[in-house]
Amino acid sequence: MEFLKHLSIQPHNPGVSTGTKWFEGAGARLSSYSPVDGKLIATTGAADRETYDQAIAQARQAFAVWRNWPAPRRGEVVRRIGESLRAHKDDLGKLVSYEMGKSLQEGWGEVQEMIDICDLAVGMSRQLHGLTMHSERAAHRMYEQWHPLGIVGIISAFNFPVAVWSWNAMIAWVCGDVCVWKPSEKTPLSAIACQHIAAGVFKEMGVPEGVSVLVNGGLDVGQWLAADTRIPLVSATGSTRMGKAVGTTVATRLGRSLLELGGNNAIIITENADLDIAIRAAVFGAVGTAGQRCTTTRRLIVHENVYDAVLSRLRNAYAHLHIGDPLDPANHVGPLIDKDAVTNYLSALDAVRAAGGSFAVEGGVLSGPGYESGCYVKPCIAEARNDFDIVQHETFAPILYLIRFKTLEEAIAFQNDVPQGLSSSIMTLNLREAERFLSAAGSDCGIANVNIGTSGAEIGGAFGGEKETGGGRESGSDAWKAYMRRQTNTINYDTQLPLAQGIKFDI
Ligand code: NAD
Repeated sequence: MEFLKHLSIQPHNPGVSTGTKWFEGAGARLSSYSPVDGKLIATTGAADRETYDQAIAQARQAFAVWRNWPAPRRGEVVRRIGESLRAHKDDLGKLVSYEMGKSLQEGWGEVQEMIDICDLAVGMSRQLHGLTMHSERAAHRMYEQWHPLGIVGIISAFNFPVAVWSWNAMIAWVCGDVCVWKPSEKTPLSAIACQHIAAGVFKEMGVPEGVSVLVNGGLDVGQWLAADTRIPLVSATGSTRMGKAVGTTVATRLGRSLLELGGNNAIIITENADLDIAIRAAVFGAVGTAGQRCTTTRRLIVHENVYDAVLSRLRNAYAHLHIGDPLDPANHVGPLIDKDAVTNYLSALDAVRAAGGSFAVEGGVLSGPGYESGCYVKPCIAEARNDFDIVQHETFAPILYLIRFKTLEEAIAFQNDVPQGLSSSIMTLNLREAERFLSAAGSDCGIANVNIGTSGAEIGGAFGGEKETGGGRESGSDAWKAYMRRQTNTINYDTQLPLAQGIKFDI
């Protein structure tokens, strides 16, 4: 495990950091077990209320300085973090893979996404621009500018243990904010490694202590962030259950929240689809990251004329999947994150049967050599109906529901008829079908693709979804605006004081 050493991970790690300084934290220690082999990787401290408050106080002090750094200089800090991530890509990708269980290709891909976000944020640091407007009053100038918000709280999920932080932090930093990160208690070591990488750059560039705060801990630490009036924006990624709790708490104090929650993503395969592409997209979408992506393909809505052909090709593809150690490049599918996830997977299989569904590819838990952690399950395919209760839920596991349709209207209705609204796609070579799917009467998701699966988005676009997915947008386009406050400025350079709307007020 050379990569642990290269990333400064010790057997016992402090849980709280304000940048270059580390504090033990008196909260209940976290133990990180690898789902790959079930072994304890290392432990970390966790924040208690007192350490948390001290860290937030440090972040406030840092903000008072950091907001005055020119944005391109803040961009230079982010550029160097990107360089350091390039140097650590191999090791960090391995840690992500070992701690979380995704394939090494996807572990490296996640670090590459962090690097890409750094590059995007560097460019943005020179483009945080507002509009100018024409004033209705003579000799007046009106424009808007975007100022930093303050402390951005980041609550992240286990399945993207490092990328979610970078989606938020790199952009928040160029915007002039400071960040407080509460990572998933299931992947604290990946977070510690990121903090060490950033700290190296902070030291070199004299970045104020407190620009990057890490507070490891359980959901209690997330609750402190949500309720903290010193934190104007809480960006929370995770389950819809968590988002409802965090969103409600933040709304009660009239703070801002940016919510990136669960998905229930579908691919529609019409009779005009290129089935070679459709099957590849569906299989990667359904089994990649062992079905633990927010954009995982959970439902395949297939036209009755190609249903049998699709099913037979899927069966064939699933028969060729290698399940096992995700660090071995020969394997396609690694483990679920822990045994609780395996229990949820098994309950979902029972629920499918109880609802009257059947399995075209059977599931089950794997045991024997190589599967000692008890977290490896078989990706499976169920023939189901869209209105089954279990199909309406996001089960974070590789279970694909096959649903048959006759007309495109019906397919789009199925696609939209779930509580979540993250990612969607249509497989068709027919222009009319594609355009109807993308129209106002088409997909109701934040992401809608044609001839691309639901899983794996590019960072250049704004990422997020509607309905129970939470409505937040991160990454590209103008998503940076969520991390800033807008100010409208009107300047009078005349000797008169005309009032807006022509109101007269003579004294
Ligand atoms: P989770 O909701 O269990 O935990 C996510 C984070 O929230 C953790 O850090 C946890 O400690 C914290 N948390 C949980 N309850 C909280 C509360 N009441 N108050 C404050 N903090 C709380 O989610 P998970 O199992 O780690 O991740 C899987 C979920 O995340 C899936 O639903 C997946 O779709 C979603 N996800 C969404 C996106 C997206 O961009 N839309 C990306 C990744 C993951």
